[in-house]
Amino acid sequence: MINDYPQALTIAGTDSGGGAGIPADVKTMQMRGVYSAMVVVAVTAQNTLGVQDTFPMPEKLIDEQFASIASDLKIRACKTGMLADSIRVKAVVRNLKKYNLGPLIIDPVMVAKGGAKLLSDDAIAIVRDKLLPLATLITPNIPEACELTGINIKDKTDIKRAAHELQKRGAKNILLKGGHAENSQKANDYILFEDGNDMWLTAPRINTKNTHGTGDTISACITAEIAKGRSMEQAIMIGKTYVEQTIKEGIHVGHGHGPLNHWV
Ligand code: PLP
Repeated sequence: MINDYPQALTIAGTDSGGGAGIPADVKTMQMRGVYSAMVVVAVTAQNTLGVQDTFPMPEKLIDEQFASIASDLKIRACKTGMLADSIRVKAVVRNLKKYNLGPLIIDPVMVAKGGAKLLSDDAIAIVRDKLLPLATLITPNIPEACELTGINIKDKTDIKRAAHELQKRGAKNILLKGGHAENSQKANDYILFEDGNDMWLTAPRINTKNTHGTGDTISACITAEIAKGRSMEQAIMIGKTYVEQTIKEGIHVGHGHGPLNHWV
């Protein structure tokens, strides 16, 4: 029975340099033993030095990719990454409502590490009001959580407050990644579960240049583990361990922020 093989979907942007976005998602899902399909929302010209250009896919082609996948595969979990602009966010929301693609993990990608915008400013409110309420899990970093909640996050109390605000706005579970906190030697991640339970995950900051695609990798790993039937807590724990390994064993290719090593 071919349909019993766990299948997951990434709805995101490409990275011509192979380190982040759809390539990172596909490699991660493959490593977790999950078959991956993809809806390409935007194409980027990118390498380890940064994003040189981006081009959004026509809406019609986004609809068609969803239709092709939904009419053939049995997707058990899906994730979103780079969604480019308001037209693309609306197209993705429309299709997520139309098809049953399992639990939805939202990585609310906004700006690449080099500073390139991967989501237009006017699309942030649409992500917050239309996409976020569909989330089984949302995985913002601190700047993204600030944008989505309007809270100026400075410390752990603010992180908690922002996570509760995201839940109030409709996301069931929250993984708020504290790796972007200033002046911190530790990465403090906060998890708020659907039932109101919460926990902190604290790990030492890893000093490395190989951080390109970390957000994509952890959300893809969690999506793959959910597709295999793991609980949210188990999936997040596995995601956290996996991304730490991929950072520690990062590959030295290119001249900039070298990619992670998904083969761990
Ligand atoms: N490019 C694409 C297409 C992405 O989806 C992402 C994910 O967040 C990035 C770039 C970000 O890369 P970085 O980890 O360097 O910020």
